[in-house]
Amino acid sequence: MRDLAAERGIRAVLVTPGPDLRYLVGYDAVPLERLTCLVVRVDADPVLVVPELELLAAAASPVGEAGLDVLTWGETDDPYAKVAGLVGSTGEVAVDNHMWAEKVLRLRDAGAGARQVLAGQLLDQLRIRKEPDEIAALADAGAAIDRVHAAVTGLLRPGRTEAQVGAEIAELILEAGHVRVDFVIVASGPNGASPHHEVSDRVIMPGDAVVVDIGGTMPDGYRSDCTRTYAVGDPGPDFRARYEILQASQEAGVRAARVGARCSDVDTASRSVLADAGLGELFIHRTGHGIGLESHEEPYIVQGNDLPLEPGMAFSVEPGFYEAGRHGARIEDIVVVTEGDPRVLNTQTRALVVIE
Ligand code: ZN
Ligand code: ZN
Repeated sequence: MRDLAAERGIRAVLVTPGPDLRYLVGYDAVPLERLTCLVVRVDADPVLVVPELELLAAAASPVGEAGLDVLTWGETDDPYAKVAGLVGSTGEVAVDNHMWAEKVLRLRDAGAGARQVLAGQLLDQLRIRKEPDEIAALADAGAAIDRVHAAVTGLLRPGRTEAQVGAEIAELILEAGHVRVDFVIVASGPNGASPHHEVSDRVIMPGDAVVVDIGGTMPDGYRSDCTRTYAVGDPGPDFRARYEILQASQEAGVRAARVGARCSDVDTASRSVLADAGLGELFIHRTGHGIGLESHEEPYIVQGNDLPLEPGMAFSVEPGFYEAGRHGARIEDIVVVTEGDPRVLNTQTRALVVIE
């Protein structure tokens, strides 16, 4: 991080609690009004500035083991002045992309650096290629969410509401080893046409297609995200025909996830299968997003993103079709780019599962 900052002529990088702090020093601090801030300077050792009452929490995290310098501030001190004192008042200072605006402005007013820029340009470069231990963590998360999908067929029945099914899925996400439920989408019948529908009191009906998109956070912070579409009874020939094309589209996207391809090529691979079958207008979102310590992060699998794929990049391939008032479907797996074939972290069948 310090080397990257030096290359870009950035004097210091300031990181407050969130995925970037967890990535850099392993400290999973809760973002609160009191300032906790990692100060990474190009010409000195990094320092973690923490409220006095959070010193023990910081020391108990990997920060303590790493021997990182920790500087505390008391309730009546000005922590922003402390950070400004460490950073100096000249040059560019990078702030993490998720820092609260209140803290960004107070750091600016305290004179921490002469100009603020976003630290994402540095952090994304580090986080976008996963190390082997990160890939193992994502694989564990994928296996955990797969166990939940394996149980979903037992929960979907006509007469139950999306909310009832969703509550049980949330419990299963935790039982499978996640420490937090990030989202539960149970989108039945016409609700399936809204990609980010969550749950509602709609009663599942015979013949409904049901989009189930679920994800959570594992104890190490890495995330799962997987979608399968189920049918409760026979969804009819139109839906079945469209679903087969969707499955081919998703497979094409996964196959395209190779070193040398661009992010946009993966999108094109999935999108063109749907478009060639006349369903292009119904695929209303990008094909995927990166995943790691956040559910959505770089790289984004979208037209216009010409970033070349490299080993270690991990992202979703999740095409869908959505017809308002009628139905929708999506198939989503997390894929890791390797030197050879793409590694798919989700293994539940992608064929339409019809629950009789
Ligand atoms: Zn996703
Ligand atoms: Zn998803």
